[in-house]
Amino acid sequence: MKQKMKGSHAADGNHLFETVIGLEIHAELNTKSKIFCSCSTRFGSRPNENTCPVCMGLPGTLPVLNEEAVRLAARAGIALHCSVNRVSRFDRKNYFYPDLPKAYQITQYDLPLCESGYLDIETGQDRPNGKRRIHRIGISRIHLEEDAGKLIHPEGEPVTLLDYNRAGVPLIEIVTEPDMRSPEEAAAFLKALKSILEYTEVSDCRMEQGSLRCDVNLSVREMGKTDFGTKVEIKNLNSFREIQRALAAEAERQREQYCSGGPDSILPETRRWDNGRGRTVSMRTKEGNQDYRYFPDPDLPPVFLDRSLLCLIRNGIPELPEQKKERFLREYGLNPYEAGLLTGEKALADYYEEVVGFGVDSREAAHWILDELPRIRKDAENGEIPVKSHYLADLIQKIGEGRISRNTGKDVLMEMAVTRKTPGEIIREKGLSQISGPAELQKIIRDVLSRNADAVQDYKKGSAKAIGFLMGQVMKASRGKANPNLARSLLEELLS
Ligand SMILES: [Zn+2]
Repeated sequence: MKQKMKGSHAADGNHLFETVIGLEIHAELNTKSKIFCSCSTRFGSRPNENTCPVCMGLPGTLPVLNEEAVRLAARAGIALHCSVNRVSRFDRKNYFYPDLPKAYQITQYDLPLCESGYLDIETGQDRPNGKRRIHRIGISRIHLEEDAGKLIHPEGEPVTLLDYNRAGVPLIEIVTEPDMRSPEEAAAFLKALKSILEYTEVSDCRMEQGSLRCDVNLSVREMGKTDFGTKVEIKNLNSFREIQRALAAEAERQREQYCSGGPDSILPETRRWDNGRGRTVSMRTKEGNQDYRYFPDPDLPPVFLDRSLLCLIRNGIPELPEQKKERFLREYGLNPYEAGLLTGEKALADYYEEVVGFGVDSREAAHWILDELPRIRKDAENGEIPVKSHYLADLIQKIGEGRISRNTGKDVLMEMAVTRKTPGEIIREKGLSQISGPAELQKIIRDVLSRNADAVQDYKKGSAKAIGFLMGQVMKASRGKANPNLARSLLEELLS
């Protein structure tokens, strides 16, 4: 009984609480070499293949800053409306852990490269007046740092293996203000951010390869209060779905804790997400910044960005998702929902424009890409689009010309993804061409009419249903290949 009371109390009291969320996102930069040495950043190399005395932290080595990493980080900053500091500096963050060969991480502390930006996200439903709800999420800073190595724990063996290929790979850490109020907002922010980093080619954002990682901070407070509650950090969440589930579960845990033990019973700690059990688990109490003993790295001079370089970076920023969406609305006659989906992912937006570029109707192209393509794409490796753009354009054109039916087109699309053949080849090999010759169709229809005398009688008595039934029989007899418009007019002709 007590359990039930507590549960219902928390559920009923949800609206009395506000959830406050801030994010720290680490994105690997798209550089060929590491941030302080010339080792490759290639993913999937043999363990420790991409290492050298610098990234292994051997005595006597000196780091040299990779200029491309600075350019990309500044690019991200400009795209996210930050001010880019003309002077920034690298610091050492000291901690001892085997993934860090130098026992310190080179990062930026009090003089980061970028500060005070924002990203607008759309949340909730469209308002009745057609205006979308925009919510501005502040970005407090973006700084450059090096990644750490990776610990591998082989199952069943009492050893830990170290792979330093990732040590020294350039990262940006993007820190938001605590401006998000629900797990859905956090997910919307991350999607928009990922999209911008992909558009600007700052990072490839492959979450499954760890090139985009997210830590979240979450606290709850009573509705109407302005002081923040005690924040809890959840580390290393690796997919949008996981992030949303972890945030929802943690908010629920904190609300219950608050109700049963008061605000002080929520401890400042770092927790991890247990996907199997669907809840967060305590890892350790939170260490303060002073524990890291930050100090300026004496091996690296301050970074000076001259005005002309900044100008160059600014001019090199391509069309961003929001601008592309506006253009798609203008040029292609799409609705905001379609334009948003297509431009949310750069690869999809580019693909769409290629298909339309072959002269295909823009609304038809959107329909096939948004409604039919996802079914075959979900099985593709790395989310690649498994059908070439000119093959899809060709397929849509063949449907438009009545060569095959829409339904057959769906099968052909599926087949193209598997065999990589052209639509023409598949239609020929499988004999899928629509029957558009009146003589052949008339024969099929006569057959159907003679076998369905009852339905013919019903039709003559004025039953509207009967013609639908007979059409169905014609399509069935032609194995779906009858041109529906022609079949219908021939059927009506023969019936009268
Ligand atoms: Zn190296």
